[in-house]
Amino acid sequence: MLAVRDLRAKVAGKEILKGIDLEVRSGEVHAVMGPNGSGKSTLSHVLMGRPGYEITSGQVTLDGQDILGMPTWRRAQAGLFLGMQYPIEVPGVSLEAVLRESFTAGGRDPADVDDLVGSEVGRVGFDARLLKRALNVDFSGGEKKRSETLQLAVLRPFFAMLDEVDSGLDVDALRDVARRVAQAAAQEGLGVIAITHYTRLLSELRPDRVHVLSGGRIVASGGSDLADELEAHGYGAWGKDEPARPPEVALAAPTFP
Ligand code: ADP
Ligand code: MG
Repeated sequence: MLAVRDLRAKVAGKEILKGIDLEVRSGEVHAVMGPNGSGKSTLSHVLMGRPGYEITSGQVTLDGQDILGMPTWRRAQAGLFLGMQYPIEVPGVSLEAVLRESFTAGGRDPADVDDLVGSEVGRVGFDARLLKRALNVDFSGGEKKRSETLQLAVLRPFFAMLDEVDSGLDVDALRDVARRVAQAAAQEGLGVIAITHYTRLLSELRPDRVHVLSGGRIVASGGSDLADELEAHGYGAWGKDEPARPPEVALAAPTFP
């Protein structure tokens, strides 16, 4: 179980997380929704141990073991995974090398990695030619998200946070990614925290719980009907009405001053 208790965190002197409580068990899918700027990505970064955040109180445990004192790579070894909202481009390091090294660092036999990558490439609809290219460099938005999903599928963590893994995906890619994650939860016991604005992802992922994060706090939790309610009425009921725009609008031509 991944357990977060009264987690408070500051960045640049400003408190962003104001007491988060969340428990996710193996095989469960939790959706985290909420207005822009409410602290969703901050939560995922703090759980994964990104530098620059000051944790002022609270506890995060993985099967009872405190992880907040661990560097990021130890958290990854302990079975935590983050699919980033904005995957970082790493020139000079191929995706294939990243997969091989992290697989091996997880204590697994490097002789197995090629077969596993080969089968997962097909399952997530990933273009295998990208394996040789530098990690995320000049990948399209959709290729980046499929790459995050491929890494998840190959590394087989115990808990995965997926930060807007659906953003920028077309309908086919969304289905491939969501199905692979749902299978990992149902068949491999992966616990999932899926940060998203869209019920389209959730109709494939079928969350056990939906939480609304607003102003650094979880202000509502419920079943999947809560996501439908948010889609219909926005976040107005929780004090801040800043509904997410559909991707078509977000991708509209830039405006010039
Ligand atoms: P969400 O993912 O819910 O849209 P974020 O967690 O990205 O929100 O951001 C929450 C708030 O924290 C925002 O106001 C954002 O500007 C602020 N924030 C996040 N990271 C930093 C940072 N490194 N420096 C300053 N402010 C930050
Ligand atoms: Mg975010």
